[in-house]
Amino acid sequence: MKGSVSETIRSKIKAWYRKNRRDLPWRKTSDPYHIWVSEIILQQTRVSQGIGHYLKFVSRFPDLKTLAAATEEDVLKTWQGMGYYTRARNLYKTAVLITNSYNGIFPGTPEELVKLPGIGSYTAAAIASIAYRYPVPTIDANVIRIIARLYGMQQDIHSVGLKKKIETLTMELLDQENPGEFNQAMMDFGSLQCTPGVPGCSSCPLNQYCKAHLTGMEDKIPMRKEKKKLQHRYFHYLVLTDHGHVWLHKRTGNDIWHSLYEFPLAEMPAGKQPDAESWYKATGIPDIQPEKISKTYRHTLSHQMIHATFYQATIPPGHKQPGDELVRVPVQSIGTYPLPVLIARYLADSGTADYRQKG
Ligand code: SF4
Repeated sequence: MKGSVSETIRSKIKAWYRKNRRDLPWRKTSDPYHIWVSEIILQQTRVSQGIGHYLKFVSRFPDLKTLAAATEEDVLKTWQGMGYYTRARNLYKTAVLITNSYNGIFPGTPEELVKLPGIGSYTAAAIASIAYRYPVPTIDANVIRIIARLYGMQQDIHSVGLKKKIETLTMELLDQENPGEFNQAMMDFGSLQCTPGVPGCSSCPLNQYCKAHLTGMEDKIPMRKEKKKLQHRYFHYLVLTDHGHVWLHKRTGNDIWHSLYEFPLAEMPAGKQPDAESWYKATGIPDIQPEKISKTYRHTLSHQMIHATFYQATIPPGHKQPGDELVRVPVQSIGTYPLPVLIARYLADSGTADYRQKG
């Protein structure tokens, strides 16, 4: 499909986009800051949910300068509800870096952009092409699906060979004059027309060129190996109260929810309940006897499912307070700390804090 066929496909995708494009808030601007924030949000959040989060984020941090002048805790708090907090930490790091080392101006080439924290090749291509009209294609799952179907590619979606071919073909299809708009057209075409599962082939302007459709393979391409299995983890949280205060722990280390706050935690194997020894390890206080146990809350991350249970307890009379690793927080202030959504759900359900209003 070289030469004129590529041109025909390109012009049909552009015509389709003019009629069907989604009206999204970040499409009203070519400011690299706004493009960057939207792309980071969309890395792991659906467009429909991302719109509200994007508007909230840019209303709190309207430009790079405001974001760089904030605290990481403030950024994490604004990010709450979106998960994958590494994205928020990297947004903040990058804002500070651009302010201090790039005179506050976003670099305009993919090569420079990928050097920044949290910006991979896809995000770099999106920012460079949309904000600076740099001729580089954005290759995500949508684009891989469209190209693999159009060209009838039957290799595994994760194979290096397929990736290389797709890079060459998307570069060939790219509209050199307005690469950003063409990349956005491909995103929408993949989300609305050439969808996963059963695509809309009967109304597709490319159906007479598409090898997958012409051979009845559109529901089988792209091909993929089995998905990685979910890891199940069992978190038992101690909601330890003491005269209108509760104890929180800041997560550190190379694990989920880095820098977020949680209750003292006993992580146990499946089917095993925590005992006084488990709570001693989590708090440094012996003889803790929980008075009330919550239902189990489930929360799915990319490769993990967290099963969390909350145990309410008070510090036994005469015992010392927990060690320095825990912070004592007035119950009504919990909502001012960045918390995993799972804990926010428990707080909202339990009435432990007036979390709905605070959060
Ligand atoms: S014909 Fe079907 S499979 Fe082919 S590009 Fe169009 S929607 Fe996708």
